[in-house]
Amino acid sequence: MGALDLRAIRKSFGAIDVIRGVDLEVATGEFTVFVGPSGCGKSTLLRIIAGLEDQTSGDLSIAGRLMNGVPPAKRGIAMVFQSYALYPHLTVEGNMGLALKQEGVERSAIAARIARASGLLQLDPLLSRRPAELSGGQRQRVAIGRAIVREPKLFLFDEPLSNLDAALRVGTRLEIAKLHRQLGATMVYVTHDQVEAMTLADKIVVLRAGVVEQVGSPLDLYRRPANRFVAGFIGSPA
Ligand code: ADP
Ligand code: MG
Repeated sequence: MGALDLRAIRKSFGAIDVIRGVDLEVATGEFTVFVGPSGCGKSTLLRIIAGLEDQTSGDLSIAGRLMNGVPPAKRGIAMVFQSYALYPHLTVEGNMGLALKQEGVERSAIAARIARASGLLQLDPLLSRRPAELSGGQRQRVAIGRAIVREPKLFLFDEPLSNLDAALRVGTRLEIAKLHRQLGATMVYVTHDQVEAMTLADKIVVLRAGVVEQVGSPLDLYRRPANRFVAGFIGSPA
């Protein structure tokens, strides 16, 4: 049983076919990266997995459970977006604990989960600050911490580094790679950045105009690109 299973997923917005038949299996603990040019459907596919959009047709399972029509809160996922979307009036601790509080998780369990996540992300000194008192990189770490405390089966990232400057981008990327090792969690990560894809992924899914062009390890794609498009994207001659 895989962590994530997509079968013949299609999505249209009106007359426009954005996702045109995607099949994909993600194994438990795997770091999968969706890569492809702007507008190819990466975010739409991730939002379908999250339940923020319904697919037009096809089946989607998470941890062996069919998720068609299941609302986001019931999918066992947590998502980190490009924009951090933190609540400005809450402290870091408040932001990290809010969803758990709403789910009715016990206060002591919330504190324990926040302590663990803030240890992993070095957020301890920041717990009582508000978002306005944090740098962009720190805010994104809080957004990642907020995902970790949910203890999701599946982490979804949509271009989490694109609002950060170059130096922070490298640091935060290493942080995400370290988290993946430490948590052993399944992660699906969207980017249009080849370097991010090549350095983070166990498995890369190359998308083009709503279709999967190739799936493989970074080395597979580099050595044996299926076509010129993949070669051009990954950066070796076909
Ligand atoms: P990516 O994340 O790869 O840049 P998106 O998934 O955001 O691409 O978008 C894929 C295509 O779907 C684009 O052409 C975009 O304009 C279109 N699209 C995305 N969301 C909507 C929507 N809610 N309504 C209409 N078109 C949309
Ligand atoms: Mg996008």
